[in-house]
Amino acid sequence: MTTQIERSLVLVKPDGFARGLSGEVLRRIEAKGYTLAALAVTTPTREQLAEHYAEHEGKPFYEPLVEFMSSGPVTAIVIEGNRCIEGFRALAGATDPTAALPGTIRGDLGRDWGKKVQENIVHGSDSPESAAREIAIWFPGL
Ligand code: ADP
Ligand code: MG
Repeated sequence: MTTQIERSLVLVKPDGFARGLSGEVLRRIEAKGYTLAALAVTTPTREQLAEHYAEHEGKPFYEPLVEFMSSGPVTAIVIEGNRCIEGFRALAGATDPTAALPGTIRGDLGRDWGKKVQENIVHGSDSPESAAREIAIWFPGL
């Protein structure tokens, strides 16, 4: 175990926001022991999403993903703590909410709605490099 204070960008996606699950996601983050460094409600623009999801451009789910993510407000959160990037990914569970294990956010609260995009409640950065890049998109100057 190493000391590695990190920040991670978490989004409660439009499905989670619309279902009133922002509080539940925040509760799990705080119960785990991570702290909040920034918090905002915002409706993402397509430009922001093109930057945020640049790695997925050209994939079959890219357009539906941008469409879904720009469809309504999200809760954007910067969390902080030792190894919080890996830790939040573990809290979130697998990308496919049907396969995500019970006990995780996606496994407990998500399901397959038969859409072209996996509506899976939350986003979490996947590496320190992604976290720095994503935090600059959602909270410039933080
Ligand atoms: P994660 O959010 O777990 O890091 P990815 O970065 O691979 O997953 O994908 C970004 C988002 O795109 C996912 O959270 C999900 O909403 C959507 N997505 C990923 N893969 C698929 C897929 N095969 N079909 C539909 N939507 C997908
Ligand atoms: Mg990802």
